[in-house]
Amino acid sequence: MTPNYQARRTKLRRALKKAELKVDGLIISGLANVRYLTGFTGDSSWLFLSLTNCVLLSDTRYETQLADECPDLDVEIRDSGSTINDLAGKVIAKARSKRVGFEADHTTVAQHGSLSEKITQATLVATSGLVELLREVKDQWELTQIRAAIEYAQRGIGVVRSSLRSDQTETEIRYLLEAAMRSFGAAGTGFEPIVGVGPTSALPHAHAGTRRVAEHPVLLIDWGASTDSGYRSDLTRVFITGKPTKQMELVYKTVLAAQQAAIQAIRPGAKCADVDKIARGLIERAGFGKYFGHGLGHGFGLEIHESVRVSPISERKFEAGMVVTMEPGVYWPGKFGVRIEDDILVTDDGSEVLSNLEREFEQVFVPILA
Ligand code: ZN
Ligand code: ZN
Repeated sequence: MTPNYQARRTKLRRALKKAELKVDGLIISGLANVRYLTGFTGDSSWLFLSLTNCVLLSDTRYETQLADECPDLDVEIRDSGSTINDLAGKVIAKARSKRVGFEADHTTVAQHGSLSEKITQATLVATSGLVELLREVKDQWELTQIRAAIEYAQRGIGVVRSSLRSDQTETEIRYLLEAAMRSFGAAGTGFEPIVGVGPTSALPHAHAGTRRVAEHPVLLIDWGASTDSGYRSDLTRVFITGKPTKQMELVYKTVLAAQQAAIQAIRPGAKCADVDKIARGLIERAGFGKYFGHGLGHGFGLEIHESVRVSPISERKFEAGMVVTMEPGVYWPGKFGVRIEDDILVTDDGSEVLSNLEREFEQVFVPILA
């Protein structure tokens, strides 16, 4: 099975026709968006798509790679004396587009300035999220990639779990985890893994540091793998490596109950904000509301954080084919934090939890080697 880039571009053209912005072409400069629409894995390259044109704008470094990765695509290569803005000006003039969208989320003010100088015969129009919206719903090929990324991550953590030592530091665990995932076939990590012992686990986005496993019974690891095709996974588990307090048990069980209740509520048509509210309400009623400050989940795929966002302010609804994380957390400043994160596929009649690592409190006790 291979991805159908042509079908993705057809969908985008349909979206362009429907969009209220009335653009007749779009410059796609977001790296992941270009990859999604063409399969090109390099950078510094843009795609220009109109109802009749589809051209990849790149430079000489990528000529061979482009012929290999996108053999069916029209490619324009700029020479070393010109910029990508110069090339965009030429391509758009040739296409006779009159209103050209650009991706405001992936264009700096400076880039927009130079682009407007080069595009003289068309009006530039800011657009947002057109390709990201298409990327929310995954096709079958993407789901196989995501499943593989989850598999690498789960096998990798198995190695860490079975070899925890009391003197091991957070950083050592991070490196071991990355090496293990690669040894099972991952291209790399999905993002810099978060490994936190005790007080470090109370920082939702902590970097792995020098704390040692034996310092505290709570060990939080937030990690994921990436595939050669660029797809990622995103998981979090808390391991209990010593004797937990009653408070730790209560927090853990509350977070897990919140996650499970939220997952139960996911189905096509359910509001993202309502699902967030279910988890948040449960944590609030347990008295930990002020310790849960982030959104409940997010889409992921070619990037680790993608649309759709599952948060109190989201105005979106779930659709079949979306893949999101469910990751409630409670962070006790200076003490410890618990977050449990799984990867969920929205199905026609509910959801499927794609990640299947043990998550019950009794199952996350891990003996540590001396
Ligand atoms: Zn995560
Ligand atoms: Zn996440």
